[in-house]
Amino acid sequence: MQVLISAEQIQARVRELAAEIHRDHPDGVHLIAVLKGAFVFLSDLARAIPGSCSLDFMAVSSYGSSTKSSGQVQLLKDLESGLEGRDVIIVEDIVDTGLTLAYMQQILQARSPRRLRTACLLSKPSRRKVDVPVDYIGFEIEDKFVVGYGLDYAERYRNLPHIAVIDPPL
Ligand code: IMP
Repeated sequence: MQVLISAEQIQARVRELAAEIHRDHPDGVHLIAVLKGAFVFLSDLARAIPGSCSLDFMAVSSYGSSTKSSGQVQLLKDLESGLEGRDVIIVEDIVDTGLTLAYMQQILQARSPRRLRTACLLSKPSRRKVDVPVDYIGFEIEDKFVVGYGLDYAERYRNLPHIAVIDPPL
């Protein structure tokens, strides 16, 4: 497996994103992580945000154990608290076709947050099928299947501290 983004590069970029988020939301943010992939990013990002911050979790499924998006998004776990009037940031591991994020943004916008923004550690712009706004992007990468730092292939490799390319997909 080839290392694409080292643990040190990730940590440095996460600190920059946290500083940007804090600058844009000095009164605090409500972070919503998309399970399972975003759990590592969320944990580093939340600890790097100096201001007030609350958390909630959603789980959606769009892939099964395949490396290609089915385009079908299913809500597996909903939030525990409402979003009305809050400054909300969706925290995602990766935006690929954009279908998962477009679905998340649509259902969360309907819950009347004051602001709804999105932070993604990784983006594969060449794979986009829907034009979805992402306010904070860690790294733009090529069309390669990546694992590590929360991202899996068939539930493996989430614990790697770096991002690696599986080539070819197993
Ligand atoms: P999208 O709906 O196609 O944008 O896919 C988003 C979801 O697919 C992400 O939240 C990941 O769970 C998964 N995904 C997309 N690309 C990769 C990858 O390269 N490695 C691991 N998971 C991926």
